[in-house]
Amino acid sequence: MKTAFMTMDVESLYDAQCLTSFDIKYDKRFSMENNASLYIDLLDKYNIKGTFFTVSTSLNVVEDLLKKAAKNGHEIALHGLNHTSPFDITLEEFKKNTISAKKILEEKLETKVIGYRAPCFGITEEVVKIIQEAGLKYDSSHLNYSRQMKSGKISLTCFKRISSAIYRNKDFFEFALPKSHLLFSKVPIGGGSYIRLMDWGLYKKLFKNYVNTHDTFVFYAHPFEIAATKLPSLKGLPIYLKMYFSFFRRSYLKRLEWVINYLKDHDFEFLTMREYIEKNK
Ligand SMILES: [Zn+2]
Repeated sequence: MKTAFMTMDVESLYDAQCLTSFDIKYDKRFSMENNASLYIDLLDKYNIKGTFFTVSTSLNVVEDLLKKAAKNGHEIALHGLNHTSPFDITLEEFKKNTISAKKILEEKLETKVIGYRAPCFGITEEVVKIIQEAGLKYDSSHLNYSRQMKSGKISLTCFKRISSAIYRNKDFFEFALPKSHLLFSKVPIGGGSYIRLMDWGLYKKLFKNYVNTHDTFVFYAHPFEIAATKLPSLKGLPIYLKMYFSFFRRSYLKRLEWVINYLKDHDFEFLTMREYIEKNK
């Protein structure tokens, strides 16, 4: 069976790692978590249930939206108490934050939370150990791409590979993010800014190469990328970062719809990560 997972990292525009080192003022009119509704609408159009890795502070904006989504069968998972990378705090702090964020999401959204994705994919073995102690049953942060700022990786040697991108260690699962061969390296093609900024013809080629040779595909999006809404002025940002944030946001949904249709036409079944685990207990 071929399986696709449509996920979103529900966070504010101001959580983007490349913004946090600049002195950009938070303006809640532009935090953009609300754009998650466009993603939910698209998934609902195809009767697909998605997995929403949520930063607990974003509930200030999208609590009602996500509560309704959870009631309709979408999955809520954890993306941190805030968007600080696990690399930037102590392990004790990380543990305290994770336990508290899981509780906040579960209480406010009235749902069980069993999954985790680290901000900036900052995963390590210690992080995995702590999230397991906090009661989480899976992680989806393994990107293993050194050019991604603050990202990490874990050794998967203790895990058994149960599909082309899903690994299992006893009752704990890892859903790895996809990368495709390009010249002498591998580049991420799981969504995010890669689907938005890469030449569309090239993206489609790398995506097809991947899904035609793998039985699992994990897609992820951010609310700020799925937008017809205006960006804040982002004064003080270098021009290349202004370009990074603004390019091709209007075509994102169209590209995403192409991805969904391609996966459907090639016999991928869409599941939430929790559904997959329940099926494979
Ligand atoms: Zn994030």
